[in-house]
Amino acid sequence: MKIVILGGVAAGAKAAAKARRMSADVEIELYTDDTHISYSACGLPYYIEGNFEDYRLLLVRSPEEFEKSGVKIFLQNRAAKILPYSKQILIENLVTKQAYLINYDKLIIATGARAVVPNITNIDLKNIFTLRKLEDGIAIKEKVLNSKSAVIVGGGYVGIELLEALVRQNLHVTLFEYAENIMTIFDEDMSKLIYEQLMSISNGRFEIYTSELVTEFSGDNSGVHTVRTGSGKEIKTDMVIVAAGAVPNVEIAREAGIAIGETGAIKVNDRMQTNFEDIYACGDCVEENLIISNTKIWMPLGANANKEGRTAAINACGGEEHFHGVLGSSVTRCLSLTMSMTGLTEKRALQLGYDAVFAKVTKNDKVGFMPDANNITLKLVADKKTGLLLGCQAIGSGDADKRVNTVTSALLAGMTVDEFYKNDITYAPPFSPTIDPLLNAAQILLAKIEKTSDEKI
Ligand SMILES: Cc1cc2nc3c(=O)[nH]c(=O)nc-3n(C[C@H](O)[C@H](O)[C@H](O)COP(=O)(O)OP(=O)(O)OC[C@H]3O[C@@H](n4cnc5c(N)ncnc54)[C@H](O)[C@@H]3O)c2cc1C
Repeated sequence: MKIVILGGVAAGAKAAAKARRMSADVEIELYTDDTHISYSACGLPYYIEGNFEDYRLLLVRSPEEFEKSGVKIFLQNRAAKILPYSKQILIENLVTKQAYLINYDKLIIATGARAVVPNITNIDLKNIFTLRKLEDGIAIKEKVLNSKSAVIVGGGYVGIELLEALVRQNLHVTLFEYAENIMTIFDEDMSKLIYEQLMSISNGRFEIYTSELVTEFSGDNSGVHTVRTGSGKEIKTDMVIVAAGAVPNVEIAREAGIAIGETGAIKVNDRMQTNFEDIYACGDCVEENLIISNTKIWMPLGANANKEGRTAAINACGGEEHFHGVLGSSVTRCLSLTMSMTGLTEKRALQLGYDAVFAKVTKNDKVGFMPDANNITLKLVADKKTGLLLGCQAIGSGDADKRVNTVTSALLAGMTVDEFYKNDITYAPPFSPTIDPLLNAAQILLAKIEKTSDEKI
C-alpha cells in the first residue's frame, strides 16, 4: 500500500511519522512546495525575537531522518491537481519545472494555510514580509537585525507576537489594525483591555492604531520606506510585516471535488476522512467540530494540526482513531501580557443562540504580599437557562493561562457553573490567593444565574 502526503510542516510531518510507526511495510511519500519540512512555525516569532540564534532549533525532524525511516521526501514539489477517480496526483517540480503523475492508495492532504496578502498599493516592494514559513522567518530576522523601525499590519495573534519580537530587538514599532480593536477573537471589552494594558507598558517603544486601514506603501529600489493610511497617517519605516490573517489552502481539494465546509476549510468526519473514502485531510486546511456547541469552526493551530495528522495516519493505515474536535483554546503573550481563552466568548455564545451571562473579575493571581503577584482579568461565560459553563477569557501580567486551562477540563466535562464552583483548586501564597480568581468569577456568575432562575419562579 502507498500513502501519499501533501504538505509537511505540522500535520503532514506528524502523519508521515505516525504512518511509519503504524506499519513498516507501507510505502510513504511526502510532497511539499516548501523548502523545509517538520518545523515549528509557532516558534518563528521567538526566533525573530532573538531567544535563540540558530533557526535549526525549530526543526523537529530532518528530511534525512525521514528518509532513513523509509519515508520519501520531495521538497519543492507542488501538488498541482488531484485526480480522485484514478487515484493520481499531478506534481510539479518547482526547480526543474517538470510535471509528472504519481499514484496513491491513500492520500493525506495537509496543505495548511497561507498568509492573506491584502490589496495595498506597492505591496510587492522589497522589505515587506508575511510570516508563515520557515524561510519567511529567516528573511525577517535578517532584516530585523539591520533595522531601526518596523510597521506591522494587523493586530491578531501573529501581529501581536511580532510586536513583542521586534520591540525586544529594539525596533520602534507601529502597528495598524483595520478593525476597531486588536485581538478581535476576544470579546470587545477584553480586546479593549488588551489595548489599554499594552499601551500602558509601551514606554514609547511602540504605537498601536486601530480603525486604521493601510492603503499604500512607497519606496525605491532599496525597498519600502513609507506607509500611508486611509486617515492620512504617513510613517517612515525600514520594514513592514503584513499579518492580516490566514486562509486555508483548499484550492486543489476543491477542484478535485473534495467537499469544503461552511468555514471555507476542508470538511472531514471525526476520522479526518473527506467525502472520498481514501482521501484524508488534516491540519490548517480542515475545519473542526467545536465541542461545546457541535458547530463548525476553523481553528488553525499547531496542537490541533498534530492531533489531526496522527488521527489521519492511523485511519489511513487501516486503524480506527477519532478526533472529536476542539474547544477553541488559545494562548499568546505580548511582552508582560498573557492573553488566553477557551470555549465561547459572550459574543459567540449570543450568536449561537445561548442565553449568555458573564462575570468579570480583576484580581491578583497570587496573594498580594508576594513580590511577583500580578493582576489578571477573567471573564467567565455561561448559559443562563441551563447553567452550563461556556467559556473563559483571561488577560493580564499574572498567570492567566493556568486559569483558562482549568476551565478547558470543565468544558470538556460539560460542567455547570454550580459544579465548577465546587472545584478544589490548589492554594498557597506563591500560586494563588486563598480563593482563586476563577472561583470568585464562578461565584458571581452563579449568583447571576440563580437570581435569574428565582426571578422566573
Ligand atoms: C507566526 C506563527 C505563529 C504561530 N503560533 C502558534 C502558537 O503559538 N500556537 C499554535 O497552536 N499555533 C500557532 N501557529 C499555527 C501553527 O503554526 C499551524 O497551526 C501549523 O503550522 C499548521 O500546520 P499544517 O501542517 O496544518 O499547515 P502549514 O504549517 O500551513 O503547512 C502546510 C505545508 O503544505 C505546503 N503546501 C501547501 N500547498 C501545497 C501543495 N499544493 N503541494 C505541496 N505542498 C503544499 C505549504 O507550503 C506548507 O509547507 C502559528 C503560526 C504562525 C504562522
